[in-house]
Amino acid sequence: MSLTQIYRLTTALAVLLTAALTSVLFQPARLITGYLQEYPEVRLMHLDDAVIGLLLALILLLAFELYQARRLYKVSQKLKQHRSRHAQLLDRLPYAIAELDNQFRIHHHNNGLQTLQNTLGEQAIRQQITALSQQFSQLASYDPAHLEQWYTDSKGEPHCIEWQLYRSGGNYFLAGRDITRRLAEQNKLTIAERILENTPIGVLVADTNKRIQYINPAFEQVTGYCSQEVLGRSPAMLSSGKQGPEFYSEMYDVLEKEGYWQGEIWNRKRNGDIYLEWLSITSLKDDHGKATHYIGMFSEFTAQELVKEKLRTLAYYDGLTSLANRALFNDHLKRMLGQIRSKKLCVIFIDIDGFKRINDSLGHPVGDQLLVAIAKRLKEHSRDSDIIARWGGDEFIMAIEVSDSHQGVEQFCNKHLYQLKQPFIIGGRELSITASMGVSIHGDDARSTSELIRNADIAMFQSKKLGKNRFEIFSPSHHEELMESMEIENRLRIAIKEQQIDVHFQPQIHQPDNSIIGLEALARWHDPIIGPVPPQKFIRIAEETGLIHELSVLIFQTSLERFKALQLVDPHLMLSVNLSATQLQESYLPETLKHITGNLSIDPARIKLEITEDVLMSDIERSISNTSQLKELGFQISLDDFGIGYSSLSYLKDLDIDEIKIDRSFVNGLNNSDRNKAIIQAIVAMSQVLSIDCIVEGVETEAQLEELTRMGCDNFQGYLFHKPMPEAELSTILSH
Ligand code: C2E
Ligand code: MG
Ligand code: MG
Repeated sequence: MSLTQIYRLTTALAVLLTAALTSVLFQPARLITGYLQEYPEVRLMHLDDAVIGLLLALILLLAFELYQARRLYKVSQKLKQHRSRHAQLLDRLPYAIAELDNQFRIHHHNNGLQTLQNTLGEQAIRQQITALSQQFSQLASYDPAHLEQWYTDSKGEPHCIEWQLYRSGGNYFLAGRDITRRLAEQNKLTIAERILENTPIGVLVADTNKRIQYINPAFEQVTGYCSQEVLGRSPAMLSSGKQGPEFYSEMYDVLEKEGYWQGEIWNRKRNGDIYLEWLSITSLKDDHGKATHYIGMFSEFTAQELVKEKLRTLAYYDGLTSLANRALFNDHLKRMLGQIRSKKLCVIFIDIDGFKRINDSLGHPVGDQLLVAIAKRLKEHSRDSDIIARWGGDEFIMAIEVSDSHQGVEQFCNKHLYQLKQPFIIGGRELSITASMGVSIHGDDARSTSELIRNADIAMFQSKKLGKNRFEIFSPSHHEELMESMEIENRLRIAIKEQQIDVHFQPQIHQPDNSIIGLEALARWHDPIIGPVPPQKFIRIAEETGLIHELSVLIFQTSLERFKALQLVDPHLMLSVNLSATQLQESYLPETLKHITGNLSIDPARIKLEITEDVLMSDIERSISNTSQLKELGFQISLDDFGIGYSSLSYLKDLDIDEIKIDRSFVNGLNNSDRNKAIIQAIVAMSQVLSIDCIVEGVETEAQLEELTRMGCDNFQGYLFHKPMPEAELSTILSH
């Protein structure tokens, strides 16, 4: 029975009840009026009241009925709105929903169901869902109903729907949702999880605060730690202490910059054992590129692998600097040659200038530390793709690829020359070095790896020759020069052995009386095969090849023997002997010179040792120590080629210099250059103030002599007076 029917029945009953009540209420009045026969109007009045009462009750009931009908209408309207909102809401849900009665007849369904079952329409209402679609035919037999169904949509894409049936009172609710994506994700995760759980590679996930968030079983197996012991802790708990803090800060630096790091690392297990592992760390980033996690994957080196690794390291890496060695460099270079496409491959040979001096003066341990620091600096200022190797001793070699061969490699060399010049702090001591570099470019003059390396080496020699602390790009002329140098070296060895080196003497003149006050001994070599070789050339080669020691002793010995003979002609003569750049740094020098002078009974006070400024300045402390030893032995010191180098006056007093020789380059353009005049005048004035003798070399003309005399010079050496000559010739001149 509906609400309205109940209401109407109640109303009818109420009317009857009111009428009955009214007649009951008026009954006593009717009795009274029966006795009062003579008041018939009273009875009349009684009847009217009953009718009026009935009418009133009816009106009241009617009003009440109207009020109720209005209220019902409002409620039904609200219900309608509510239903429509409910339906809209249901339609918007990402589910397919149907309300079914106990016979599985559809009472209501949302659009979701219609989309999935495009056969459904309005006509589906009150129809049995089990009969409407094949897929629901078995619905009744599922209890609790839960089923997954695959279907292919209009675009041909497969979908999986998960259906669920709920019982509510006598009715059912059927809800279905598309779980295709969730299934795929789950699937992926399950595979990843399974891989993580089963891989023999240890995996660790840490957040950016370096707190461990996850470890896999392999991690537990290798380290011996279980998850409870490591979760929330820092990966540093595994650190063995074998690698210093710089190692880790460098590792995190690379990780931050590149998002990836890999390498060997020594870690400690739970039982205290130290083991070597190969670790790669990747940073996991969010959509904005911000790192959220670090994933570390590692595998322990087995004993066999460790031995193999050790052998590989020994065979391919330099033990001191850990850089690649020659063999590995050759391998890398071959590989680079094979892969080269549009870029240019350059090989750069690097030799540290004067490294032997550092080794000799400060000892090999300091030299070794310096080499390690040099290797580190070379690496720091190179790209990962550049190959750096230690070639041996103080020689390094690099292979780089550049797009614009000349400009690119020039920039590269300048950068490294600059970086190597910056002081190194070794054992609390500041050390400064320079390097000489030689470059060869693939395709220009070299095609094979051996040609590339050889040419770079030749170019490096060239940059040494041209003054060091520079780079040279190989040119075929360098090769010719190298061949020539090699021939000179071979011939020089023979010349020294067979004592073929001669000495000529150039007189030094005192004005105004034109007297010969001294002689400069100048080495001369006329080889029977290659002919005359200028002293500057063979002395440089002797320095480069280490022949300088024997050569210098030979020249010194010969000069003094000849001088001994000349002293017989003029006992007041002084002899100037040149010392080479490397000689002054050698600790044996004072003793050797003392020995030779002693043997020939020549007073060292008669000997002036000519040294150049750059030799002094390259190691001022050692120079001061050596010159003071020489001075103690009685030798005099002359500063040769003065004015072209540092020309620093401060060390003249410290070194206790006896004489300055003004370089001939100032005399050359003297008559046309005010600048040269000013320099000579300043040097002369300074020597007078410091009471140091001064001599001008390279005087060739009367005009120069006049000008120099006007400036206050009185000691000269030059072609104007005499060219260097053999002892016999000089002897004749002296005896006149
Ligand atoms: P130096 O010590 O400055 O020697 C002077 C050079 O100038 C000599 O050249 C000499 O021949 C040259 N000379 C002298 N007067 C004149 C002149 O008026 N005009 C010109 N144009 N040149 C003049 P040399 O003999 O060729 O020697 C060149 C350099 O080789 C020397 O420069 C010196 O640095 C080095 N040297 C020569 N002999 C020896 C030696 O026995 N030992 C060492 N360590 N170096 C030597
Ligand atoms: Mg000289
Ligand atoms: Mg000179």
